[in-house]
Amino acid sequence: ISIMATAEAKSRYNVSITTKEIIFREEVGSSPWTADSWKSKVAAQAVQYADIDGLRQTCSLLRELPPLVGDWEVDQLRERLYHAALGSGFIIQGGDCAESFADVKWDTVKRKVDLLYTQSRILEESLQVPTTAIGRIAGQFAKPRSNLLETLPTGEVVHAFRGHNVNSEDPSEREPDHRRLLLGYMYSAAAQSMLRRMPLPLTSHASDGKQVEFSLFTSHEALNLPYEASLTHNRYNLSASTIWLGERTRQLDGAHVEYARGLRNPVGVKIGPNATPEDVVALLNVLADRAAVGKVTLITRIGRGRAPTVLPPIIDAVRRSGHIPLWMSDPCHGNTFSTPSGIKTRRVQDMLAELQETYTVHQACGSFLGGVHIEQTGDNVTECLDETVMGDNDEYFGRRYQSLCDPRLSRDQAIWLIEQFSSFVRA
Ligand code: PEP
Ligand code: MN
Repeated sequence: ISIMATAEAKSRYNVSITTKEIIFREEVGSSPWTADSWKSKVAAQAVQYADIDGLRQTCSLLRELPPLVGDWEVDQLRERLYHAALGSGFIIQGGDCAESFADVKWDTVKRKVDLLYTQSRILEESLQVPTTAIGRIAGQFAKPRSNLLETLPTGEVVHAFRGHNVNSEDPSEREPDHRRLLLGYMYSAAAQSMLRRMPLPLTSHASDGKQVEFSLFTSHEALNLPYEASLTHNRYNLSASTIWLGERTRQLDGAHVEYARGLRNPVGVKIGPNATPEDVVALLNVLADRAAVGKVTLITRIGRGRAPTVLPPIIDAVRRSGHIPLWMSDPCHGNTFSTPSGIKTRRVQDMLAELQETYTVHQACGSFLGGVHIEQTGDNVTECLDETVMGDNDEYFGRRYQSLCDPRLSRDQAIWLIEQFSSFVRA
């Protein structure tokens, strides 16, 4: 499996190694890594379970359950991300902010897959490089929260909703329950089984011109470490093809970075507007060998208007470090705001602006934007704003605001965003 990137991209980056070499050159740093070495570090956003013995039993059960993805799928995705990091591929990653157990249904999942398929075809045609789709799907059940407690209208203070594998959005079921981790595994397995049985279309843009079937890789935030570690075997997290670390849990000396640094999976890291070039290079040094092109995906989510000032020093420092990460843009999480009546939303125009600015800044810096990461759903929800939304926004949000957490683009908005971005790139 010695896949070579395009000659142009490789000479640009002076890359002379094969994918096979990078896949087997792992562990950086001197201290030994195990799937449990994170336990000696501080885990931000850790869930406090009342029943510690029960949690231990649940983790033993999880360790005995079959993997949700094959290690060959993880390696295959590593190769796709390697190409995207070098500019000879592109990634569309998308799905719910928080998946719901109740949405693990054939039609709902099918609409999410169809959307990612449509977006990858649009991108492939305008960018003229093979485009790989990754769902925030089949396991995106754990959420970090800015406020870990919530005050109900009655004045009662309860745990915030932390995702379906921790507690329920129903205020009467907010106590973290370790058994939900098992349910999370089962719903992930059910979703994964649907993804594998779904009749998927053929796509024609394989690098050798042959027809290859559209395949969807899975991903989620590696937040709940007892769960992630229980599904880790021989350095592969087999709960998803790739995982990412959130903006709130990427502390250099924290448990999440410790967990991720030993994995063979490609690993994403969210990068917010306050990250310094030194922070980003330090993360790369811990998470990847310099030779491991595309092992780490830096997912910038900095908000509209900030790319021209925030990104160039980071891109420059990363280049000087010798690392070649895949650069992605998440135009969602830096553009969230609350309406006067307290509803969390985003404007699709702000998201397009951040994507365009990020793309342009990478070009100007001699770098590549290799992917986009979006919160979206295949359904016709009313959670984000666009130019067709007139007048009384509360009436609009009242129609179909169904998200358990952050606002998602509807199918039409998500396609509009990718079409606009694609024509911008083509122009
Ligand atoms: C998310 O992706 O849902 C999320 C919480 O993102 P971030 O860590 O970038 O805030
Ligand atoms: Mn979110």
